Amino acid sequence: MSERDDQMEQEKNRIRVAIDGPSGAGKSTIARAVAKRMEMDYIDTGAMYRAVAYKMLQNSVSPNELQLIEEMLADTDIDFAKGNILLDGEIINNKIRTPEVSALASECSALAPVREKLVRLQRQMGEKKSIIMDGRDIGTNVLTDAEYKFFLNAKPEERARRRHLELLEKGQEASYLQVLEDIKQRDHNDMTRALNPLRKAEDAWEIDTTGMNLEQVICTIISHIKGE
Ligand code: C5P
Repeated sequence: MSERDDQMEQEKNRIRVAIDGPSGAGKSTIARAVAKRMEMDYIDTGAMYRAVAYKMLQNSVSPNELQLIEEMLADTDIDFAKGNILLDGEIINNKIRTPEVSALASECSALAPVREKLVRLQRQMGEKKSIIMDGRDIGTNVLTDAEYKFFLNAKPEERARRRHLELLEKGQEASYLQVLEDIKQRDHNDMTRALNPLRKAEDAWEIDTTGMNLEQVICTIISHIKGE
C-alpha cells in the first residue's frame, strides 16, 4: 500500500467526536470515559488553555502583554501522553487545577495568539487518529467536520453543586456561592468573547445532564455513536 493509500485508509476509519459545553457540565469526565470504552484518544482542550495560563503565571506574564505572550508561545510545547498533559516535557496534570489557573485560563483563552496556536495544534491532533475532543469551540470551529458532535449542558446551580462537592471531596475548602459566582463569570466570558465563543453547533446533539448521573450520560453518548 502506498503512503497515500495508507493515509486515505486511516482517514476513512477515523472517527472524531466533539464534545462542547459550559464549565462544570461534566465534559472531561464523560469524554475520558467514552474514549476509554471506545479505545480512542482523548484530547482535553481546556487543559491546553490551562497549560498556557500556568506558563504565564510561572513567567509573570499578564494577559495584556501580547508581545511577551507571542514570544512565550513560540517556545511552548504542549502534548498528551498516557493520560497526562505535558508542558515543555513536564507533566502538569495537578498544577493546572487551581482557582488561579482557572481564572487566567478563562481570560487568556480570549486572546488571538493563544487561540491560533492551540486551535492549530488541536486540528493536527485530530488528523490521523480517532479522537474525542472536549472544549468550547470544537464542534463550531476546531473540528467542524467531526462525525459526531455533542453539547452537554446543565443549569448553573447544578454545575456549581457538582463542582462544590468535588472540591469538598478533595479536601479543599469552598463556598457554594463562590463556586456558583465563578461558574457564572466563566460562562459569561466564554459566551461573550469575540473569538470562537461558546455556542452549540447547529448539527450538535444537546444533552441536558441535569438530573442524569455520569453513567447515564456516558451510555447515551456511546449508544448514539454506535447507532443503537
Ligand atoms: O474546560 P476547562 O475549564 O478546563 O477550560 C479552561 C478554560 O479554557 C475555560 O474557562 C475556557 O474559557 C477555555 N477554553 C476555551 N476553548 C476550549 C476549551 C477551553 O476557550 N476549546
